[in-house]
Amino acid sequence: MGETMTAIDLKRLIEALAETIAAHADELTALDQAIGDGDHGTNMKRGFDAVLADADALAAKPLPDALKAAGTKLVMTVGGASGPLFGTFFMALGKDIPPHPTAAELAAAFARAVDAVAARGKSEAGQKTMLDVLYPVRDALLDGKPAAEIAAVADAAAAATVPLKATRGRASFLGDRSIGHMDPGARSTALLVRTVAENLGAQA
Ligand code: ADP
Ligand code: MG
Repeated sequence: MGETMTAIDLKRLIEALAETIAAHADELTALDQAIGDGDHGTNMKRGFDAVLADADALAAKPLPDALKAAGTKLVMTVGGASGPLFGTFFMALGKDIPPHPTAAELAAAFARAVDAVAARGKSEAGQKTMLDVLYPVRDALLDGKPAAEIAAVADAAAAATVPLKATRGRASFLGDRSIGHMDPGARSTALLVRTVAENLGAQA
């Protein structure tokens, strides 16, 4: 990912994230139809479209402020269980990150943001949630893995939620019937990670 991220084109990154979510909204909804209430795609699209609408204002802010504002926007617009969790992630990331982070500083801030999600969700690894992608990505970042590998780690981690039984969130109501489906929040998290990795990889 390069030494520093001073060259982040925040507007381009926001556009790419919103594009990714829009392109996969139907898929996320289908995943949530299988083990939830079928709103994850529309929830995420509503949230990232709202962030996209603010892209110019967000991109004009220092990185910590932009992340906090994007997180606040996601809390207000995504809804469901995932809105407060994604919002918490970005707000916590913004709280801890320097304006021009090195890769190591990004990894450290990411790790604290993942802890904030776990605290907010009262959840942990292995429960078939977004955390099952966030933890492996955190470890890959702390290991200093390159962007392409981090994207692959995220995809593999989302796929690895298929055999898990959900014990948190709406999917936990299904018990054993949640087994055999990918967790929608794990999938959306992997999509976001891949998009960030591809963008920062290209920008570095
Ligand atoms: P809802 O479940 O309220 O309909 P969404 O469909 O938008 O909300 O999001 C569902 C996703 O949120 C799940 O797939 C899971 O990844 C994540 N999730 C739900 N509850 C928790 C939790 N307590 N901790 C971590 N992630 C959670
Ligand atoms: Mg849902």
